[in-house]
Amino acid sequence: CCSFGIPTALKGWMLLPYREPGILSGYRPAGLSAGACLRSVFQLSNETLNIWTHLLPAGYFLGTLVRRLRAARADPGARALLLFLGTCCLYPLASGGAHALGAMAGPGRHRGYCCDYAALGLYGLGSALAYSAYAFPLEWVGSTFHDFYVPVAVVNTVLSTGLSCYSRFLEAERPRLSKASRILAFVYPYIFDSIPIFYRLSRCAAGGCSEGSIRLHFRHSLCALLTFLILTSRLPERLAPGTFDLIGHSHQLFHVCGILGTHFQLEAVSMDMAERRGRLPIPSSLETFGSLGIGAAASLAILGICFLRLRPEPISREKAH
Ligand SMILES: [Zn+2]
Repeated sequence: CCSFGIPTALKGWMLLPYREPGILSGYRPAGLSAGACLRSVFQLSNETLNIWTHLLPAGYFLGTLVRRLRAARADPGARALLLFLGTCCLYPLASGGAHALGAMAGPGRHRGYCCDYAALGLYGLGSALAYSAYAFPLEWVGSTFHDFYVPVAVVNTVLSTGLSCYSRFLEAERPRLSKASRILAFVYPYIFDSIPIFYRLSRCAAGGCSEGSIRLHFRHSLCALLTFLILTSRLPERLAPGTFDLIGHSHQLFHVCGILGTHFQLEAVSMDMAERRGRLPIPSSLETFGSLGIGAAASLAILGICFLRLRPEPISREKAH
């Protein structure tokens, strides 16, 4: 149990109330019960908009998924899109839930965020499935890179979920390292998954582009860059600590930008699917359901390990420190 310094980290979060740099007020009291956390969703705190900026879009994507399911359930060519859409519903839902439960005592808070990261990892895998089926550069179709693209994306998802969940164990004692490893855990798979899109965008910049979806791919890539810059710069609250506590701090902007990116990404992939039908092979159900199933099973296993590690401290030990 004592590898990785986990027990010391466990002690740490019992002592320190959670604070974000630049956000001075609006914190919910620490150590709320799950029920009190859920009730707090309807009261204004510095987490309220973090919750709703993801819960409302989750509902919107769910509506889109239901509509698409009715229209294209029997179409094997739409499988990758439907699975991708499923992951687009899952990640904002998990994130909204994690933010809602963020004021729970000790492990509860971290467990919520681990679910959030696992869902984000699956969203990355869902994107890779959709890119492989609809958005690959036509000259790369059937190449070795195309053959290994989805399997590598599955491995990346597992590594990313593992690293980001592990980063929760570092939060109390080494917050900077914790944030940095979490950013790495999401930036690296994003860059790998986006290679086909970056290639198409660069070819377009060089003057050879006729596809209507490129404009949308450019928009969602720009949103992804903005989410990264907002998250790492902590603007605007870094310039005026205390001013954006309830409305307008970087995490809310990060959510909005990320969701806009997902919206444009979904539009781009849908347009690719319509425009390029018949030009890319339809992936088998093993490639689509199988890959996402393996990714989901591995993520659940990682969550299981984290949940076991993140057990509440015995009362006596808590008092002793
Ligand atoms: Zn968030």
